Amino acid sequence: MYPDESIVMCEKVSKKEKIEAEAHELMHILLNKQGLLRVVSKYEGKNEFLAMEINNAISHKILISRLRNDYNIESELHLKENTNSLSTILRNIEEPHSNNDTNLLKEIGVRLYDIYRTISEIEKEIIEIVSTNQLVESFFQMAKEILSRITIDSSKEVQLKTIKLFLLEIDVEPRSFYYQ
Ligand SMILES: [Zn+2]
Repeated sequence: MYPDESIVMCEKVSKKEKIEAEAHELMHILLNKQGLLRVVSKYEGKNEFLAMEINNAISHKILISRLRNDYNIESELHLKENTNSLSTILRNIEEPHSNNDTNLLKEIGVRLYDIYRTISEIEKEIIEIVSTNQLVESFFQMAKEILSRITIDSSKEVQLKTIKLFLLEIDVEPRSFYYQ
């Protein structure tokens, strides 16, 4: 799901994968209705992808286990796509211009944390990628340390405080976002 909440579905997926993908997006909406906060950028074109990565990093672990436990729906497609995206992520980090694009490295750090906490089989691979860039590593570590404190049982106040703390730690202004 993209920051504007549009849902893009590839044509090349099987029926089972299509159900998985639709259930995934519906569960995002359900978790939000049940109190898991969403971060939304106030300014179009600015921090939108960071907001998306933060939302994903907070929700995916809960989302995947809820789909499995409550609805008997696996997340094979999602996990496969995330695993496959690692080589692209590494390439993005290694692009010469990336080093001057701190915003991009923040998004990448949070994204790698999202993948790290949902696919334990490739933890080692992710740590290797993370360690190729000092900034990515520090953003990843901060996401791991701070965003992981949010659970489905966290009150809105605790979630708000935690997300704002994380944003401050990665030098992003918390007032640039709505919290819904
Ligand atoms: Zn998702």
